[in-house]
Amino acid sequence: MLNNFHDNLDKEFNDNIKFVSRCPLCNAEYQSDRAEIIEEKGGEALIYVECLKCKSSIVATVMFGGAGLVALGLVTDLDKNDVEKFKEALPISSDEMLEVYKALKKDDRFVQKAAKFKK
Ligand SMILES: [Zn+2]
Repeated sequence: MLNNFHDNLDKEFNDNIKFVSRCPLCNAEYQSDRAEIIEEKGGEALIYVECLKCKSSIVATVMFGGAGLVALGLVTDLDKNDVEKFKEALPISSDEMLEVYKALKKDDRFVQKAAKFKK
């Protein structure tokens, strides 16, 4: 039954998944049916994998280039919907970081106040 499942997987996808086949936090082996391709464009794929054992997740970018496959993974606390939501988001600038830092230093209830603006 497990063999059937693997036969059904696209070979390229299967190869990609080997790069992220173990959870970096608890070392458990990922179930390949838990890996989801969030987005695929121009020889690049954004993959989301959740560890069944420790519930941590990673987001990985896999690129198919002249040099073969390159994978870049990142441990994240985002869930799949967050990844969808933030994949187009603009990066935070260092000026914005500095503003938040200053606000935090000035007002120790800044986080509580800012949370109220959350929709
Ligand atoms: Zn894990």
